[in-house]
Formats: sequence, structure tokens, C-alpha cells
Amino acid sequence: MSEPIQPTETAEREDFIREIVKADLAAGRTRQVVTRFPPEPNGYLHIGHAKSICLNFGIARQFDGQCNLRMDDTNPAKEDVEYEESITADVRWLIAGWADHCLGFKPRKAKAVAQGDDFHLGAVRSAADPQADLEPFRASDYFDALHAFAVRLIERGKAYVCDHNAEEVDRMRGAPGEQGEPSHWRERGVAENLDLFARMRSGEFPDGSRTLRARIDMGSQNVWLRDPVLYRIRHTAHHNTGAAWCIYPLYDFAHGLSDYIEGITHSICTLEFVPHRALYDWLLEALELPRPLPHQYEFARLNVTHTVMSKRKLLRLVNEGHVGGWDDPRMPTISGMRRRGYPAAALRDFADRIGVARRENRVELALLEHCVREDLNRHALRRMAVLKPLKVVIENYPADQVESFEVGNNPEDPAAGTRQVRFSRELWIEQDDFREVPPPKYFRLSPGVEVRLRGAYFIRCTSVVKDPATGEVVEVRATYDPETRGGNAPDNRKVKATIHWVSAAHAVEAEVRLFEPLFSSEVPDDLPDGADFLTGLNPASLEVLTGCRLEAALADATPGTPLQFERVGYFVADPRDSKPGAPVFLRTVTLKDAWARAEKRQG
Ligand code: ATP
Ligand code: MG
Repeated sequence: MSEPIQPTETAEREDFIREIVKADLAAGRTRQVVTRFPPEPNGYLHIGHAKSICLNFGIARQFDGQCNLRMDDTNPAKEDVEYEESITADVRWLIAGWADHCLGFKPRKAKAVAQGDDFHLGAVRSAADPQADLEPFRASDYFDALHAFAVRLIERGKAYVCDHNAEEVDRMRGAPGEQGEPSHWRERGVAENLDLFARMRSGEFPDGSRTLRARIDMGSQNVWLRDPVLYRIRHTAHHNTGAAWCIYPLYDFAHGLSDYIEGITHSICTLEFVPHRALYDWLLEALELPRPLPHQYEFARLNVTHTVMSKRKLLRLVNEGHVGGWDDPRMPTISGMRRRGYPAAALRDFADRIGVARRENRVELALLEHCVREDLNRHALRRMAVLKPLKVVIENYPADQVESFEVGNNPEDPAAGTRQVRFSRELWIEQDDFREVPPPKYFRLSPGVEVRLRGAYFIRCTSVVKDPATGEVVEVRATYDPETRGGNAPDNRKVKATIHWVSAAHAVEAEVRLFEPLFSSEVPDDLPDGADFLTGLNPASLEVLTGCRLEAALADATPGTPLQFERVGYFVADPRDSKPGAPVFLRTVTLKDAWARAEKRQG
């Protein structure tokens, strides 16, 4: 058995971002910590997002602050309500019972309102107010405020309307080593810019014909400062704002100002945004917004072996039918993991153990599975289930007799109680637990050999029945020793194996799905010769077993309740495909712990 884990959730975490937060609080630069988790609703959340959620909510939790869930929904072409809903459900699930009290919510459809010369979000409340009609934050709720900020930049000569198309803007921006080429419209006057921007907004110009650009520095070493585009024309309806807008702000413009509107103190993102930080700060300064201003901090994104994490690639897996959907249990998505039975606490434990790094790295999938196993070992209800059944007939057991054994639900947790398991003359055992001709060191059932049926009796195999056509063993005949009731012999006689079993008359028939990693290659993003990541798919990632025989207590297993099928693995009832009378079980994780073994070898 593996070592018990430390109760990391109550311990105070240490990392470089928390050091910054602590210093800001100590120096009075921050009064209350407000972080945010800002997904773009263009896909489902994955384990990398889980890490970011745990970091942002973990900081809010540790420092009595607040964390806003904000939909970064500024690109209507790729975004959808389905994604918003899945994201909200995933975040709520991941923080439930841990950091719900930190979740920032706002009154439904609240707009950012002007207070004097600047915009703030009025009356942000926490989720703790059960009466309030609250919803997550959305960048699109700030479109009016963002537009007003853009107008203010124009008025100050810090933004202009540019008539170059996207390719020209890109080419003229130039590479980091060389100078950028200024836009032909860089010196346009304020009045003309205001007029053109108003006409962009009113829908006078086609998509891509004009943009609003910040007027910063075409010679900057940082290409993000070479007059970045702030607004573009898109005659596309938005899932939140409908047809109200045909110009949409770009990420860099919307993000920092949304942080400002919400009163975010620490805006934490991944390392690819390091070069954007100068632009983030420039925008806040150029608008001369009242202090305090938010600050951006970056940490390394999480990568995990045997999977891909980019939403674009996950979308391909879904759209091209390589998986059954975003919540396919093999997907690295939070919804896939939840469906598969990964406990939220295990994901949080995983995020905690990998810590917050400044340099990118790749974490072993085995560590994630280890965290899942640690949690399930403590909480899973033990059950008996035979996945590949072989019939055993106990010849000296009366045909009309049935008895019940009281069996513990979890040896790790006496409070989990016991249940009655029924025993009768005909049983199912695993095909693997019988060999007609046992190989060396095979101690399970074979002709003449005695084994223990877990919690019941000793049985000894007397003969086999074979299919005359194939020669395959289709039934095992055995006798039981009534003196061994409960699983021990009065003469202290030992057996070398204990196997699990299910009474045939009482068994539930079910489908069971076993999973292996979705990708055989450790780093599917980086295959030799630049091969497409799909060539790294594991053709054996899903095995469907039908006709499995489960103990009666599993007939009404509730999805979400973790189970250990003894000697077989951890499982959960599938909330999606189970039907009354036809349950489907998913293997959450195997019992074998590759991570614990590797750790033992090393240390
Ligand atoms: P992808 O690259 O997979 O499309 P993304 O960065 O575009 O993801 P967003 O919806 O923009 O996804 O991400 C929301 C937040 O989650 C951002 O703050 C982002 O930095 C963070 N995040 C995304 N991927 C990871 C990851 N692998 N590890 C840690 N944080 C991540
Ligand atoms: Mg992103």
C-alpha cells in the first residue's frame, strides 16, 4: 500500500506569486486580494486550466480575498454558450467545499458604470448571498466601458484608425531585430479618428477594412508595442451582446481593462504573456486611471505526458470523432475527468504538488493518477465485480440455499459501514483466476488447488467442463469446506490465494469500460519529423467489456460515488450512458501505482 499523503489543503502554500501577494499586503499596496480566472469560452476546460483555477482561487482562499470567474468573450466567431455553461459547471465543481466562498459574482447583467472619469463595476457581491440573482463576469458586459476607454485614447492622441488590412499590419510590424514600418494613417488627426471610429462602430465599413490601433512605438524591441490593434470590425452576432456590436476589442485591450474594471489586484497568467505585460501597463497608464492599478504576473503553463492540452487540438479530437465528446473519459478535460470519477480534491492535490514554476515543464500522467488513487483509497466503497466471468459450480452446496456475508465497505474507513453480500451454489469468478494448467508461481484456482473466496469460504477445484467444439473451459466444478465460513479454516490450514466472486443468481450484468492513455507517445505535441499529433493516438485507449457480473449492491450505484472493484481497480457509474437496469461503469484508475513504485526506486 502507498504512503498516506500530507493534508496539503490546509497547509499554507509557498511560491513566488504568493510571496508577491504577501509583500503587497504587508506594504499596504493591496488591501483585499482580488484574482480572476479568465477562460475564453471557445472550448472546455482542461487540466492545465485546473491548475490556474487552483492557483487563483487558492490565493484568494489563503489571503481572504476573492476570485472572479470571467468569460474572456471578445471573439464571437469562436465562442458559444455551451462552452460558458461547461466552464461555469467545471469551476464550481473544482472549488466546491474548498473555495466557494471566494467566488466573485456580480448582479445579473450588471454593466460597468462611469464614476466620474473612470469605469467601475458597481456592487460586486460574493456567491455567499443566496438571494441575489448572480452570474459570472464577462468581458462582453464591459463593451460600453471598453469603447469609452478607446474613445478616450483617441482623444489623447494615443490611438488612431488604420486602413491597412491584417496582412499589411502584420508585415509592417516587422521582426524583433528590425524596425517596424509606421502605418500610413499614423498621423491622422483626432477629429478624423473619432469620426472614423464612430462609423466603424455604426457598421459603415466591411470586416477587416479598418482597425483601431494604439499609437505607441514602431521601433520598440517588443513587437507587442508596435502599434497593436485594439479593435477590429466583425459583423458577427455575439452570444451575449447579440447584434449590438460590429466592432470587437482584442484580447490585450479588453483583458487589462477588464481587470481594472473588476478591481483585480493580481492578474496571473501563463508565461506566453510576458511580452504583453508592457502593453498591459501602457494601456492603464495612457488612460491615466485612478490608482490602484492591477498588475500582471506570469507562471509556467502545465503540460502533462501522454496528452495534448491546446483547445485547438482538443477540438480536433472531438470534431474528427477520435473521442466521444469533450467529456470523453480519456480527454484531459475537467469534465472528462469528473465523468471518469477523478475527485476534485485529487485535482487540487495534483495542482498543489506540482507547485508554481517560472519555467515550463512536463509532469508525468502517473503523478496525476497517483493523486487520484490516494484520494480514492480513502473514500472508495469496496465492491466485488467480475469483469471477464467464468462460472463456478459448488457441487456440495445445496442448490436452494442462499446465505449472506457481512462485508466491510472500506477497510480504510470504518465509518463507511458494511453490506450484505449473498452467496449461493453458482458463482462467477474472473477467467484470469483459473488455469487448467497453472504456470509456475500461479497460486490461484486450478484442478486440485484450494483458494479462499473473499469473505466467504475455501473452495477446491474438482473438475472442469469444456466446450466440446473449442476445448475451452466453460465451467469450473468445485467443493467448499463449510468449516471455513468467513474465510478462515479452524485447523489453520492456509491457502495461497484469495479471489473475488459474485453469486450468479444475484449478479447484476453491466458494461464496463477500461481506459489507457489517449496517446501512446509521451509528448504527442512533439513527434519526430513534425508528424501530426493524431499519429500518436493510442489505438487501444478504450476497451469495452460487456456481460460483466457485479455484486447486487452495484445495481443502483450513483454516478460520482467512487468505487473500488476489489483486486480490479477504481470505478464509477457513468452518469451519461448508464440506463436503469443497464448500468455502465468506467475505470477511473487502475490499482497499480507506477508513480509510487518509481518514487520508491529513486528514494
Ligand atoms: P489553450 O492554449 O489550451 O487554447 P488558452 O490559454 O487559450 O488555452 P484560456 O481560456 O485563454 O485558454 O485560458 C484561461 C486561463 O487558463 C489563462 O489565464 C491561461 O493562462 C490559463 N491556462 C491555460 N492553459 C494552461 C495550462 N496548460 N497551464 C496553466 N494555466 C493555463
Ligand atoms: Mg488564451
